[in-house]
Amino acid sequence: MTLSALSLRCSACGETYETDWAWRCDCGAPLDFLADARPSRDAPDPRGFDDRRGLWSFADFLPVGPHVTLGEGMTPLVDAPDWDASFKLEYVFPTGSFKDRGATTTLSVAAELGVEKVVEDSSGNAGAAVATYAARAGIDADIYVPASVKASKLRAIERAGATPVRVEGSREDVTDACVDAVEAGEGWYASHAWNPAFFAGTATFAYELAYQRGWSAPDAVVTPLGHGTLFLGAYRGFRALRDAGWIDEIPTLLGAQAAGYAPIADELHGQNEGRNDVADGIQIRDPTRRGQILAAIDATDGDAIALSASAVESELDALHRKGFYTEPTCAVAPAALREYRERGVLAPDDDVVVPLTGSGLKG
Ligand SMILES: [Zn+2]
Repeated sequence: MTLSALSLRCSACGETYETDWAWRCDCGAPLDFLADARPSRDAPDPRGFDDRRGLWSFADFLPVGPHVTLGEGMTPLVDAPDWDASFKLEYVFPTGSFKDRGATTTLSVAAELGVEKVVEDSSGNAGAAVATYAARAGIDADIYVPASVKASKLRAIERAGATPVRVEGSREDVTDACVDAVEAGEGWYASHAWNPAFFAGTATFAYELAYQRGWSAPDAVVTPLGHGTLFLGAYRGFRALRDAGWIDEIPTLLGAQAAGYAPIADELHGQNEGRNDVADGIQIRDPTRRGQILAAIDATDGDAIALSASAVESELDALHRKGFYTEPTCAVAPAALREYRERGVLAPDDDVVVPLTGSGLKG
C-alpha cells in the first residue's frame, strides 16, 4: 500500500491533499479519498466466498490493509417477524457497536501513517471503539466526551488505557475542545464525522449485507442518523457495489433522528416539536457532512424523520422483550420503521433491513 492510496480531495472545493494527510480542507469542508478502492472483478459466487476475515473479506473496497483488527464484522442478519423486517445485529462487535467498522479502518490508516497519538470526540460509542483499537495498535488516545457521558462508556474508554477528557456543556462544546487540540498538534483526528477512513469502514455494512443476501440489496434500509457515520457509509458502500456491478440498485436510505436534534428531518419537513434526550448517541445539531447526507437522501429517494423520546422508549422495550438487548439510541431506527410505514413512505411489502447499532450491555 502506497501513500497515494490515501490521497484526499475536498468534498466542497475539490482541492487535493496528495502527500500530507489533512483532517479537513483549508476551506473548512470535510475531505474524502481522491480515488475510492474498487474491485476489478465481477461479484464472486456468494456460496464460495471466503468471509472468514470478517469485514476485511471485502478488502477490494478498502483503502488500507488490516493493520489493526480484532476480527470484527460479518455481523448476523436475522429475521425480525414482529417488525416484518430483517435486523442486522451491529451490536455484535468487539466494543458492542457498529463504530468498530470505522475504528478498525481508521486506526489501520493511522498505523500506516506512523501516527503516535489519536484524538476523537464522542458521546461514547465511537470513543470506546477508537480507544479500543488504539490499544490494539499501541497508539495513544485522548477521547473527548461530554461530562454527562454514560459511566459504562467512560469505563470502556478508561480501561483501554485511553485518556478521557470530560468537557462541560453541549455536544458541540466537546467537538470544539477536541478540534482545538487537533489544531494545537496534540494528535491525529480519528473522527467518526470527519475522517474518510471511518466512512470507508462503515461502508462495509453494505458489502456484508449484500453478500448475506446473495449480492442483492433490500428495498430500503433504516438507520439512526446523527453525523451520518452509518447512513453515509451505507450509501457509499451500496454505491460502490452498484458501480462495481455487484448489485443492481442502491436501496432507499431512511434516517432516524432524535426530536430536538434533528437538523436533516427539520430541513426536509420543518421544525419538530419536543426534545428526545433518550437517544444520547445522536444528539448532533450540526452534522459535519450535512450536504453529503442530504445528497444521499436525494439520490436514493430517501428521507429523514425525528422520533420522540416516548417512541424510542417503547421501541426499546419491544426490542428487549424479543431478545434484542440493545441501547436506547439503537431503538430510533425500528421506531422510525414503524413511522415510515404509517406515513406510507414504506409499502407493506417492502423488503426492509434495519441495523441494530449498539449493545444494551454498554447502554
Ligand atoms: Zn475545500
